[in-house]
Amino acid sequence: MECVLLGTGGMMPMPGRPLTAVAVRTGGAVYLLDCGEGTQVPYKAQHVGMRALRLVAITHLHADHCLGLPGVLMMRSQMEEASPLTIVGPRGIERFTRDVIRDLACRITFRLDFVELEPGERGAGKPLLAYQDELISLRYLPLRHSVFCLGYRLEERMRPGKFSLERARALEIPPGPLYGKLQAGERVTLPGGRVVEPGEVLGPPRRGRHVAFCTDTAPCKNLYHVLRDVDLAFLEGMFLPEHSAEAQAKRHLTVVDSARIAGRSGARETILVHLSPRYDSRQARQVDQVAREVAPNVRRGRECERFEVKLQDR
Ligand SMILES: [Zn+2]
Ligand SMILES: [Zn+2]
Repeated sequence: MECVLLGTGGMMPMPGRPLTAVAVRTGGAVYLLDCGEGTQVPYKAQHVGMRALRLVAITHLHADHCLGLPGVLMMRSQMEEASPLTIVGPRGIERFTRDVIRDLACRITFRLDFVELEPGERGAGKPLLAYQDELISLRYLPLRHSVFCLGYRLEERMRPGKFSLERARALEIPPGPLYGKLQAGERVTLPGGRVVEPGEVLGPPRRGRHVAFCTDTAPCKNLYHVLRDVDLAFLEGMFLPEHSAEAQAKRHLTVVDSARIAGRSGARETILVHLSPRYDSRQARQVDQVAREVAPNVRRGRECERFEVKLQDR
């Protein structure tokens, strides 16, 4: 699994600092998390791949998180025979997208499917299912922002357990294709007619990789639930501590809030994103210093940084 951080900005795209969005690539498919104004530019520059794009998940209906949708959809319509695309987001995402397509006479050449998430669902501490396919599950919980906003958690499907050569030999399974079938979770019949279940030679199912994406929120309990024990988290760190009053008023996190929450959540590594446009590169470096003092595995993301997320049992 690879995550490409397409930008780290908040509020508006700035020269050299596109808006925050993450492309997650796994199993040949791409899942895009947020799509602010101009996201198609770094998406193209980083060769993420439009054909593989399967889903776009929008955290909330603020321009810096969804205004890039028309651009991405139009760029994808340049391809021949593009496959359907699913858009997940808060209630209203379908109307917004369809209105823009109609009002601007965009020619979209592929089918759009929508999953709209409702404010009423609270989840009681467990991220709720928004979408799933053969590769991943996308879960969410509401966060606490000035409008309805979702924190996402993308989880790879569980993998079959580890194959035990010892047990296979003890069961007198002939080496070869039967091993592969059992490893893939299939029941096999031995030459003598005896049936072997995959559970007889496989260990317990293994966890896939988990990535969280949470931006635009005041501190809240659900953040911990979404971030809990993920392999990689992208979390807003919009304000330096001197602007904490503004962070509170606008329902955002300061770098100290983010680092503290990330540190307590059990996330293995946390990348801070959605930096206020007022901060120049010198102040952006301060983000790293402030975060490091609170939690060692939290730091600021860099434009177009790529992250290889490793399986925990490898
Ligand atoms: Zn924002
Ligand atoms: Zn916002």
